[in-house]
Amino acid sequence: MQLMWMSGPTDSVKTVSITTHKVLVWVSMAAAGCVLLGILLHFIGFRIAIEVSPSFARSLGGVTTEAEQQRVEATYRERLDKLRESLNTTVQDIRQLEALKNRFMDIATPVNLREKMSKKDDSKGGPWVAPRLQTSDSQSLVQEMMATIDDFTQTQAAVKSLAQNWASQLTWLNGLPTGIPMGKDYRITSGFGIRNDPFTGQLAMHEGLDFVAEVGSPIVATAAGTVTRSEWDHAYGNVIEISHIEGFSTRYGHLSKRLVQVGQKIQRQETIGLLGNTGRSTGPHMHYEVMRFDRVINPTQMLPQTNLASQ
Ligand SMILES: [Zn+2]
Repeated sequence: MQLMWMSGPTDSVKTVSITTHKVLVWVSMAAAGCVLLGILLHFIGFRIAIEVSPSFARSLGGVTTEAEQQRVEATYRERLDKLRESLNTTVQDIRQLEALKNRFMDIATPVNLREKMSKKDDSKGGPWVAPRLQTSDSQSLVQEMMATIDDFTQTQAAVKSLAQNWASQLTWLNGLPTGIPMGKDYRITSGFGIRNDPFTGQLAMHEGLDFVAEVGSPIVATAAGTVTRSEWDHAYGNVIEISHIEGFSTRYGHLSKRLVQVGQKIQRQETIGLLGNTGRSTGPHMHYEVMRFDRVINPTQMLPQTNLASQ
């Protein structure tokens, strides 16, 4: 095919011959041009989109600018700081609880076992050391997050071991005869020591405390343990004895009724009998003794002082 045209009335005639080969070359060149233009527009458009609407650009191609990255990082850093702050508060709370527990243990532990208790603590690896929770500017966000996760894991493990430690200490305390053998309505008429025997009038050692209350008042075990004696005795009347941990045992005498059998496991504060006036007794009362390795000790060493006001 040939195209002919003239640009003016006097000008010469121009001819162009169109071959299949030429058409193919032009079409290919136009197509390549279009593709190049498309790529160019894509990048220019993307660049503009990133600056104008970063979230839209990110959704299009997963690309962020440095400014956008810094904004995201600042948000995460702020959240991380809050997380650290709350972790710090938790650690402080745990420290306070630990101090509180130690005070309770101190009050509740009989004087002659205080030393043993501190040794007991040492054998468990000493006091709990909280993880260091500090922000470091030199660390990257990822490093800081990893460090915080580590702190969390450590704190979690510490709380778990503290809970186990506290539970075992509580069980230990529960087995020591530090309780009061009866309810609220009682008087203590005769303390531990030398007194005039109510029957002979002679000076005699009184090896326990006498709790006075109405006949039939419930008598409770002062610690968890096992009943080793539940029988009639000519001096103690109806008597119950319970063995506890650390070589301790307790004796409850002059009962009107015994409610437990030898070999029976007893919980702390569980009712074991009723107050009476049996055996060598001059009136309704319960005679309470504490022994350690079969030697009688003063029960007031084991009882909370606030409960002995009526002595
Ligand atoms: Zn007595």
